[in-house]
Amino acid sequence: MTTVVKVEEKLYVNRYLVDAGRPHIKVRPHETPSAALVALTHVCPAGCYSTNDRGQVEVTPDGCMECGTCRVLTADGGEIEWNYPRGGYGVLFKFG
Ligand code: SF4
Repeated sequence: MTTVVKVEEKLYVNRYLVDAGRPHIKVRPHETPSAALVALTHVCPAGCYSTNDRGQVEVTPDGCMECGTCRVLTADGGEIEWNYPRGGYGVLFKFG
């Protein structure tokens, strides 16, 4: 018999160590978000991007899986600054 495991259940076993005060992703200051920034509020699999009450896009990279989607989508426009977390911080994937 095959056991079906949902993606959400697999993601739940990952662990994330926050590097307090040193986010590895930053959104560059903007008045009106580009289409790419708005898209990130929908496509980030970890839900790290949101829109604030002024209509600007913000990022809270806690839980980021380092998939690179936001990095690719903003490669042309340069809307974000993206670095890997420092050693020992960030996502810890658990498989099995
Ligand atoms: S790298 Fe992936 S998971 Fe991390 S903030 Fe960007 S889109 Fe979200």
